[in-house]
Amino acid sequence: MADLASATRISPGSKVDLGDHAPDAKLGIADEDSARALTAKRAERMTELATMLMAEHRRAVLVVLQGMDASGKDGVVKHCIGCLNPMSVRIAGFKAPTSTEIAHDFLWRIHQVLPQRGEIGIFNRSHYEDVLVVRVEELVPKAVWKKRYAAINAFEEHLANEGTTVVKLFLHISLKEQAERFRERLADPTKNWKFSPDDLAKRAKWDEYMTAYRALLERTSTDAAPWHVVPSDHKWVRDAVITEVLTQTLEGLDLKWPELSPEVRNIVIPD
Ligand code: AMP
Ligand code: MG
Repeated sequence: MADLASATRISPGSKVDLGDHAPDAKLGIADEDSARALTAKRAERMTELATMLMAEHRRAVLVVLQGMDASGKDGVVKHCIGCLNPMSVRIAGFKAPTSTEIAHDFLWRIHQVLPQRGEIGIFNRSHYEDVLVVRVEELVPKAVWKKRYAAINAFEEHLANEGTTVVKLFLHISLKEQAERFRERLADPTKNWKFSPDDLAKRAKWDEYMTAYRALLERTSTDAAPWHVVPSDHKWVRDAVITEVLTQTLEGLDLKWPELSPEVRNIVIPD
């Protein structure tokens, strides 16, 4: 089986053709059972490393989740992040900006909710909406959104310099799989709340969204903050890939359990 993290990583500066990234790819994983077993094994290691990150209290990790409606962003929070100690996780979701948010630059609301040292931050949508929905729906002039790729790269490099490792995940589903998930949302009363007719308006502009995704993958996958294109038609492939990427990201930090100073270690606790 291929290394799931490197197989999905977009090399900085490379051209991207989403046609080369099949949303239903299995990446050599035999079947759902083996994917689930692999995910559980790596999740254990990820959980230990997340606790070390919290114990060290020096650095942070930011995980950016992007994808079309029903691509599984909420599912990733539940299935890949849910095993972590809630104390070590900070989750933020981004909707259309409020009037206060829109009165500021597009990174203002992002900065407020970044993970603190010791935390893993999860962004369910992110500053990338400002070069996605904003680009496709022409919410600001082209001259404005065009400059945002460079602004985002500078922002993420700044975060890296200050101790936050950024990793970005594009949950890539097919048009067909999205239709199936929408139908399920409409048919199942416990899932109705997840459906909005506005999702269909976005679906109608699928190709334009894919063009916008391709542009951001090409322009903002950097060494400091790489993108991974995660095949997400199979939820078990998605979860295995993401758990592997997050575990490798934490392993790359070379975390150590903090040691007590000799004076503290030698303290004798009285009865
Ligand atoms: P959901 O994640 O399905 O709850 O929907 C959130 C909605 O907010 C999506 O339709 C996003 O496209 C939209 N959204 C998020 N960020 C922005 C933004 N910066 N400008 C406009 N719409 C946004
Ligand atoms: Mg939605």
